[in-house]
Amino acid sequence: MKKNLHLVRHPLVQHKLTLMRKKTTGVMEFRKLAGEVGMLMAYEVTRNLPMTTKRIATPMESTRAPILKSEKVVLVPILRAGMGLLDGVLQIFPSARVVHIGIYRDHRTLEPVEYYFKASKTLRGRDLILLDPMLATGNSAVAAVDRLKKAKPRSIRFMCMVAAPEGVNCFHKKHPDVAVFAAGLDRKLNSQGYILPGLGDAGDRIFGTL
Ligand code: URA
Repeated sequence: MKKNLHLVRHPLVQHKLTLMRKKTTGVMEFRKLAGEVGMLMAYEVTRNLPMTTKRIATPMESTRAPILKSEKVVLVPILRAGMGLLDGVLQIFPSARVVHIGIYRDHRTLEPVEYYFKASKTLRGRDLILLDPMLATGNSAVAAVDRLKKAKPRSIRFMCMVAAPEGVNCFHKKHPDVAVFAAGLDRKLNSQGYILPGLGDAGDRIFGTL
């Protein structure tokens, strides 16, 4: 497995992911857990964001203090399941910009089909966090990063909850520079491109479209 994969082993993340995997977990709880996992993972995903210092005045004296060097971080949820992680990450980055990218997977070919992308000039030089709960075949994530790189961001990180080994390999073959953060690295894909043991269809479980 490639080096640029970071497994978030924090006990709270692992516990919540297990609850999400259970087939008896209903829509309301699943959605809430997705937000919580998104928020907790945001700490890890942003661990290496560039820092600088700034002179500030405390009530006691003037001092130089650390602050994020980045201009606004840009969150990029892949529609629609990526929306499930968005609210949680926004709790950590309330001023983040959000750019939506619409890619669905053709269930017959498993190939990505882009149907929406609205980028702005503000992506140039920015730090982007791509959000999608499942890294399955990797095709959608590769297509999303292909598109985002054209906008010349400074960095791209990819946050997912569950990754399949096939997806990580496919993704890093094309984009080895993009760090993947996942809470679980599962066994394999089935013939329909679903992750085993996985958690089922994340979009359906978040939006109640089962
Ligand atoms: N997308 C999902 O939502 N679940 C999978 O297992 C694979 C892709």
